[in-house]
Amino acid sequence: MADYYSLLGIGRDAGAEEIKKAYRRLALQHHPDRNQGSKEAEARFKEITEAYEVLRDPDKRAVYDRYGEQGLKGQPGAGFGGGFDFSDAIEVFMRDFGGFGGFGDLFGQRSRGGRVRKGQTLKVRLQIGLKEVLTGATRTIRVKVLDTCETCDGSGAEPGTSPTPCGQCGGSGEERVVHNSIMGQMVSVQPCRRCHGEGRIVESPCPRCNGDGRLRVDKEVQVEIPPGVTSENYITLRGKGHAGPGGGRPGDLVVLLEVEEDERFIRDGANLLYELPVTFSQAALGAELEVPTVEGTAKVTVPPGIQSGVLLRLRGQGLPELHGDRRGDLLVRILVYTPQKLSPELRELLTRLREVEEPAPERMEDGKKGFWSRVKEAFIPG
Ligand SMILES: [Zn+2]
Ligand SMILES: [Zn+2]
Repeated sequence: MADYYSLLGIGRDAGAEEIKKAYRRLALQHHPDRNQGSKEAEARFKEITEAYEVLRDPDKRAVYDRYGEQGLKGQPGAGFGGGFDFSDAIEVFMRDFGGFGGFGDLFGQRSRGGRVRKGQTLKVRLQIGLKEVLTGATRTIRVKVLDTCETCDGSGAEPGTSPTPCGQCGGSGEERVVHNSIMGQMVSVQPCRRCHGEGRIVESPCPRCNGDGRLRVDKEVQVEIPPGVTSENYITLRGKGHAGPGGGRPGDLVVLLEVEEDERFIRDGANLLYELPVTFSQAALGAELEVPTVEGTAKVTVPPGIQSGVLLRLRGQGLPELHGDRRGDLLVRILVYTPQKLSPELRELLTRLREVEEPAPERMEDGKKGFWSRVKEAFIPG
């Protein structure tokens, strides 16, 4: 698919209003109702609506700007895990423009028989550990969700009866309201007050769901977590949210990810920082030491004469990048430990050392660089 910005004929810096305007103009031009249901128009309408739906949402737009369309495919931060089809496109258009006076006629045929409302989005939090960030994971979560009532099959009507078309709006679910103003008469379209836009009235409600067509149930849902996620990411499972009232399409389930703190590491994107205390002799003579990694341990060679605060980089021992194939690094910060309780033997050795050691230099070799500027340098992938 072409670039979302060029599909809408706008620049990459377009603001929210400009995006909306550009989309509305194109959507009216390519709407299938204006093109005798042409397949080509339908495809184009779907394309521009998908572009609009991404660019109007600052989060999705940021993902798109960074990773392109690929970044939105079944990944956190996207809404299109289950694909974006033509009926979604119609729904988006109706949602943002369907209620404006003047378009009622154009789209009247789609709302005939009542506008069945989509169910609500359900949001849940999911805690995951760094190991799951490393490998990705499939988790089963329990959610309390409004599900279609099986007794009435979602209609809300007692079995053996069925909802009747609303007399007030003739089943369209819409009411035209005429306002008088200094500009003259204005007509607007609103959801019908009697049937609340559903176009139908349930006269004998289903006893099990009291006419709502839905019941609260506990459900298990599987969530695929891709490697490299952060607590900023969320996963949208289309159609796994609450069922719509009166048999409407279900809403989405949004899983907000929370990556648990691992007190051993400081995380910066795909890189991890670990602080390794070493003794004075290890720092002076060098040593082969072990450090923890997310999945186990790794060996680190401390070169002789290392200074406190120096960072050693273990390439590829960090976390994977989201949507990328590169793995970050584990940065090991050396901290020289000064003994606090001296045994008589150690005291003797250190006293002897004082007699033979050279005085410390006035400045450390790279003393002009502070610790944080060195961290910054190390975090820049090289
Ligand atoms: Zn029912
Ligand atoms: Zn009505």
